[in-house]
Amino acid sequence: MAVCDVCGREMLEASTCTERTVELVDGRYERIRFGAEGLRIDSDTCDDCGVVRGALHHPGCDVERCPRCGDQQSSCDCFETWDDA
Ligand SMILES: [Zn+2]
Ligand SMILES: [Zn+2]
Ligand SMILES: [Zn+2]
Repeated sequence: MAVCDVCGREMLEASTCTERTVELVDGRYERIRFGAEGLRIDSDTCDDCGVVRGALHHPGCDVERCPRCGDQQSSCDCFETWDDA
């Protein structure tokens, strides 16, 4: 089991995360809640991070979409990178 670094709760037990926005390359965006991804998801809880419908995913969840590009948040390029500053 893993503890979320953002909300400090056990991921599969916390029904929502607490961080409502995410900082991306050109500013802060409202995060997309579970059920608002535009995907067909039948279960009431997120298969990956376990949150309930309408709740915020824990960061790093494979189901979460990026509010900027609409791709999978965990694999898109919208996060600020600091290495080449
Ligand atoms: Zn969390
Ligand atoms: Zn999730
Ligand atoms: Zn993105």
